[in-house]
Amino acid sequence: MRIGYGYDVHRLCPGRPLILGGVEVPFEKGLDGHSDADVLIHALMDALLGAAALGDIGGIFPDSDPQYKGISSLELLSRVYIRISELGLKVWNLDCTIVAQAPILSPHIPDMKEKIMEVLHMPADRVNIKATTEERLGFTGAGEGMAAHAVVLLHESSDG
Ligand code: MG
Repeated sequence: MRIGYGYDVHRLCPGRPLILGGVEVPFEKGLDGHSDADVLIHALMDALLGAAALGDIGGIFPDSDPQYKGISSLELLSRVYIRISELGLKVWNLDCTIVAQAPILSPHIPDMKEKIMEVLHMPADRVNIKATTEERLGFTGAGEGMAAHAVVLLHESSDG
């Protein structure tokens, strides 16, 4: 078994769609970034890469590379899945937390979960996504940005 942890932050700005867990969430602002700035998927990818000792997403998908501009983070997640699979590793379970003051995310979490299950070929009972506020404290509380944390457990698969 290998454990991995990921953390990411993106700034909120007007004029961008809010993409979280591969789902477009209706909101007055979106996350700023080179890709679609999906903070949840970025934290999850860093957790997966960390568990596999593959570094981080900045090393694998550098944001100086124009091919990643505006790219779907779910697409990047599928590439991370391939990298991990090539090492004979599978995801046992994952648990993620989105930190955001607004909007209310609970209605969208089942859709996010569905997207992640599909890309990582995982059953529903091993994928957990949750959201919290920070009680109006700090940058997430002020609505300046969103953060996400992720932990994963990988295991070596006997079937490759
Ligand atoms: Mg990021």
